[in-house]
Amino acid sequence: MTTESKYIHNALKQVRVDTAVSNIQGFSISGLATYLQFPEMDFCVDMGECPLSATPMDHVFLTHAHGDHARCLMRHHSLRKMMGVERDSVYYMPECISEGAKAWIKAEAMFEGVGEAKFRYPEIEPVKAGERYPLRYRKDLVLEPFEVKHSVPAMGATIYLHKRKLKDEYLGKLPEEIIQLRTSGVEITREVFDPLVSFMGDCLGESLLDNASVFQSKVLITECTFLDEGEEAMAHKKGHTHISSIIKALNELGDQVKCDKIILSHFSMKYSERHIQETLAEKIPEKFKEKVVAFL
Ligand SMILES: [Zn+2]
Ligand SMILES: [Zn+2]
Repeated sequence: MTTESKYIHNALKQVRVDTAVSNIQGFSISGLATYLQFPEMDFCVDMGECPLSATPMDHVFLTHAHGDHARCLMRHHSLRKMMGVERDSVYYMPECISEGAKAWIKAEAMFEGVGEAKFRYPEIEPVKAGERYPLRYRKDLVLEPFEVKHSVPAMGATIYLHKRKLKDEYLGKLPEEIIQLRTSGVEITREVFDPLVSFMGDCLGESLLDNASVFQSKVLITECTFLDEGEEAMAHKKGHTHISSIIKALNELGDQVKCDKIILSHFSMKYSERHIQETLAEKIPEKFKEKVVAFL
C-alpha cells in the first residue's frame, strides 16, 4: 500500500478546508466514515467517527442511518460526559429514523451494562423537510432539512444565518431619525435568512437539481462517490452521485450557482487521491474549477 492510499483511508486523519463561513474539519470516504465539523458554527454533520475535536460541539445533524455516518453518535455523547461537558448536545435527525435511533441507543446502553434505572436518552430532535429549526444554542443559525434520494431515508440541509436588516425605505436615513422611529414603535427592520452552507449527505446526483436552492449557499458540500466512465448505472443503483450529475447540474444552472466553494466528498475508497484530483481537473468545467475542491 502506498502512503497516498493510507492517507485517504485513515478516517482519523482529519482533512481541513477553510471557507468564509467556517473552517470545515473531518473525513469522508464512502463506506469508511463520514463526519464534518464546523467549529465556528458549533455544528457537526454525521458522526461516522468521533475524534476529540468533535466533543465541544453542541449540535449534530445525522443525515441517515448508515453505519459509516452514524456509528459514533453515542461515542460523541459519552465522550462529552467523560470530559465533564454538562450540557447535552442536540442530535437532529430525520423524523422517520428517530425511533430506530432511540431503540439502537438504548440497546447499546444495555449491552454496556448501564441498566434500566440509570439509562437516559440523549437530546434527540426529529426534523421534517421544509421546516426551520433555530439551533438550540446558536439561535442566529437556522437549520432547514430537505429530502434526498438514497438507498435508505436520508436528508440534506441548509444552515441560514438569521438576521434583521433595515427595511429599504429607511436606508440612508440619519441615525437620529432611525432612533426616533424605533422608539415610536415603527417596525424598521425585516427578517433575512442568509444561506451559509448546504450539505447533501448521501444521495443520487439528481437530488442536486431537485433541491437547486443549495446552489445559493456560500458553501455546498456534496457527495461524489463515483468518478469513472461506465459507473453511472452503478451509482444510480447504489443511491450515490456520479460526477457526471454534478457537472450536469453546474452546466444547467450556470450563473445561478452562487456558491463560493463546492466541496466534493465521500469518494469511493477504490480511488487514489491522485486519481480523484486528476479526474476533477479533467472533468469539472473551466468556469467552476476555482470553486470546486475535493475533501481530501
Ligand atoms: Zn455514505
Ligand atoms: Zn449511505
